[in-house]
Amino acid sequence: MEIEKVTCLIIGSGPAGFTAAIYTARANLSPVLYEGIQPGGQLTITTEVENFPGYPNGVSGTAMMEDLKQQSIQFGTDVRRGIATACDLSQRPYKVTIDGVKEIATDTLIICTGATAKFLGLPDEKKYEGKGVSACATCDGFFYRKKVVAVVGGGDSACEEALYLAGLASKVYLIVRKEYLRASQIMQDRVAQHPKIEILFNTNTLGLFGEEFVEGAHLVKFQGEANEERWDIAIDGFFLAIGHQPNSDIFRHALPTDGNGYIKTQWGTAKTRLPGVFAAGDVTDSNYRQAIVAAATGCIAAIEAERYLNNIEE
Ligand code: NDP
Repeated sequence: MEIEKVTCLIIGSGPAGFTAAIYTARANLSPVLYEGIQPGGQLTITTEVENFPGYPNGVSGTAMMEDLKQQSIQFGTDVRRGIATACDLSQRPYKVTIDGVKEIATDTLIICTGATAKFLGLPDEKKYEGKGVSACATCDGFFYRKKVVAVVGGGDSACEEALYLAGLASKVYLIVRKEYLRASQIMQDRVAQHPKIEILFNTNTLGLFGEEFVEGAHLVKFQGEANEERWDIAIDGFFLAIGHQPNSDIFRHALPTDGNGYIKTQWGTAKTRLPGVFAAGDVTDSNYRQAIVAAATGCIAAIEAERYLNNIEE
C-alpha cells in the first residue's frame, strides 16, 4: 500500500476540522485534511446559519463551510477528498488508511469526524431534507415561528428540542414511540406542563406529505396491535431528535470513548489518551453540538498539536 508521511493529518471537514486546518497551516505544519463522507459536515444539511458570530445577516451552511474551506486552503492546507477507513495508533508515526488504498503516516493526528444525527429511515426524510425536515432545532427552529412542528423522540434531546421549539412555534407535537419518555424527570415535567406541547405516546411516523415542503405527517398508534389507529397531523416542520451517532468507529479500538462512542478528551483540552492524537468537535461532544464550539475545540487541537511538535522527544 502506498504510504505518505505528513506532519499533521486532520480527518473531517466540519467547523472543527477546518478551524484546526487554519491554525495548523498558519503555524507551518502543512496540514493535510481529508474531507470524509460528508464534505463540509453537518452544516451542509441545514439551511441558514444565524447563530455563528460574524454573520449578522445569516449565511447558508454550505456557503459558510465553503468559506472555511477556502480560508484553510489560503494558508496552505492540502484539502483532499477521501474517507479514513482504518487506523493504526499503536506506534508513532500514527497511520491512517484512506479509502482502503493509501496509508498516511503522521506525527500528529486531529480527529474531527463529527457526529451524524440518526434518522428514522423513511424515504420522505430524504425527500423533504431542508424542506421541513431537520435534525437540529437550534439551527432551524427560527424558521418555524408561529408554525406547527413535530419532534420525534423521547429522550433529553427530544424534550430539549420540543421546549426550544415551543418558544417559537404555535404548537409542538412530541412523537414518542413508547408509552413513556426516557428523558430525565425534570425535562419530562417541563414538557408535560408546557401548554404548547402535545405528547403523542405509542406513536410512530409512517410518512410525510406536502407539495414541495412538509405539510403533514402520517402517524400510527399501537402499530400492529388490535387497537391500531392511523391518522394525519398538519405540520410545517418535522424534527428528528432520536440521538446522534459519533463517527468514531475506526478509532474505538485505540482511543477511550464514553458509553455512546464519543471520544474522550482530557477536560478543557483536545488531548486524547495518546500523545500527538487530538480530537475536536462533535465526535467528542454529546452536549453542546454547536458549530462555534466545534470550531473552538478545533483551534485548541491545533494549538496543542503545534506545542506537542515543538516539545516532542525523538
Ligand atoms: P437518547 O438515546 O437518550 O434518546 C433517544 C430517543 O429517541 C428515545 O426516546 C428513543 O426511544 C427514541 N428513538 C430512537 N430510535 C427511534 C426510532 N427509530 N423511532 C422513534 N423513536 C426513536 O438520545 P438523546 O439524544 O436524547 O440523548 C443522548 C444522551 O445525551 C443522553 O444521555 C441524554 O441524557 C444526554 N442529553 C442530555 C441533555 C441535557 O442534560 N441537557 C440534553 C440532550 C441530551 P426509546 O426510548 O423507545 O428507545
